[in-house]
Amino acid sequence: MQAESEIVVMKFGGTSVAGSDDIRRAAGRIVGARREGKRVVAVLSARGQTTDELLGMAYEVSDRPLAREMDMLLSTGERISCALCAMAIHDMGHNAISLTGSQAGIVTDSSHTKARILDVRAKRIREALTDDRIVLVAGFQGVSGDSRDVTTLGRGGSDTTAVAIAAALGAEVCEIYTDVRGVFSADPRLVAEARLLKMVSFEEMLEMAASGAKVLQLRAVEYARNNGIPIHCRSSFEEGPGTFVLSEEETMERPLVTAVTHSEQEARVTLTGVRDEPGIAGRIFGALAESNVNVDMIIQNEPISEDHKADLSFTVGREDLPTATEVLAGLDLGERILTDERIGKVSIVGAGMRSHPGVAAKVFQVLGDNRINIEMISTSPIKISCVIDAADVPGAVNALHQAFELGEDAVRREDPTGDHRPIIEPGGDGGEPGDERDAA
Ligand code: ADP
Ligand code: ASP
Ligand code: MG
Repeated sequence: MQAESEIVVMKFGGTSVAGSDDIRRAAGRIVGARREGKRVVAVLSARGQTTDELLGMAYEVSDRPLAREMDMLLSTGERISCALCAMAIHDMGHNAISLTGSQAGIVTDSSHTKARILDVRAKRIREALTDDRIVLVAGFQGVSGDSRDVTTLGRGGSDTTAVAIAAALGAEVCEIYTDVRGVFSADPRLVAEARLLKMVSFEEMLEMAASGAKVLQLRAVEYARNNGIPIHCRSSFEEGPGTFVLSEEETMERPLVTAVTHSEQEARVTLTGVRDEPGIAGRIFGALAESNVNVDMIIQNEPISEDHKADLSFTVGREDLPTATEVLAGLDLGERILTDERIGKVSIVGAGMRSHPGVAAKVFQVLGDNRINIEMISTSPIKISCVIDAADVPGAVNALHQAFELGEDAVRREDPTGDHRPIIEPGGDGGEPGDERDAA
């Protein structure tokens, strides 16, 4: 019976809806799932480079675009995709309705351009599903519960929209369709022999996303882990097994190292001559947190000079650098603020690292053998990250991938079945309806 059929949430990224043929291909996949008897909610991203183009338009008319208006502008990209896809689905003989994030009931906080989802009031989506409609939801956007303004969820945020809707509707799995075959042992655009991973644990995927593997947005993985929603990441261009992101118990194996990740999207801030007294670090990082600047690595040493002044370095996302320097200048701590936008970061991630010493030493050795200088280091129980010169990133990623034998060929040599990791199939409404109008 209709009301009892399984709900599936399918998300299509920018490349997957770029041209009209792509929109029709995505529509075909969506209709295919409907024909299998599923109730379908599809979350779409903006087409191709649309979000970048919209950002460019904003900076053509303003040096410092207002965050509220930026969100009004950026949210249009995903709406275009949804309206077009609904039209294509109608032509295939199915009923479809497109909804903005606000209409779909995605309620967020008020942090424009990086808002957090607070609630999904999915009543309107459910009603449309009950009316036998395919529902298309504009990804990457919501509405602030306080100001009723349109918000966006940060770059890559459509992944989070999809996972949040899957959780709210009690879907078994959230399917993320993208332009690669799934999650690989390194970015397949950088490492030719990168291996498709059949399964990755939430913990590993969190570290991978946080250290630059943009195939899944960090917040989407966090949301999926917190709500126990398995993610199935796969290609929208070809059939294939893709990658399941699951809880650690379900992934069974703990390879020493699972993946090498990289980022060229970060910048370093160095404060020189920081006073060595209690409370200073609290002031600095408290002020940054208040301005919503995400700090990654932090390095400070006990001062050894006579004047007891220390140097403090940390890394932030490059888009946060102007805010970070402004915040620090405002604190008036008297230090010199130096910035470096040329940094890159390579990381290796693997759940098996927890219990195996010597992995860090091997990373440093490999980078050293390749004459790559390490400028900063940070570790977690399952990740080792090194800041290096941005120009060294491709060489470093390939060298580490090879040294830890993560490629398809290396794994086959070890396990001739090629079946390094077995595949395991993964097994409240806020009350108020998503409004017809944008609450703005
Ligand atoms: P979408 O537009 O579908 O959301 P994204 O561009 O956000 O797609 O993410 C997909 C891209 O992520 C791939 O094209 C790939 O270059 C990159 N990527 C980086 N690291 C990885 C990885 N470990 N596995 C797969 N893809 C990766
Ligand atoms: N269109 C947005 C971006 O380019 C969101 C997304 O694609 O997930 O970041
Ligand atoms: Mg993405």
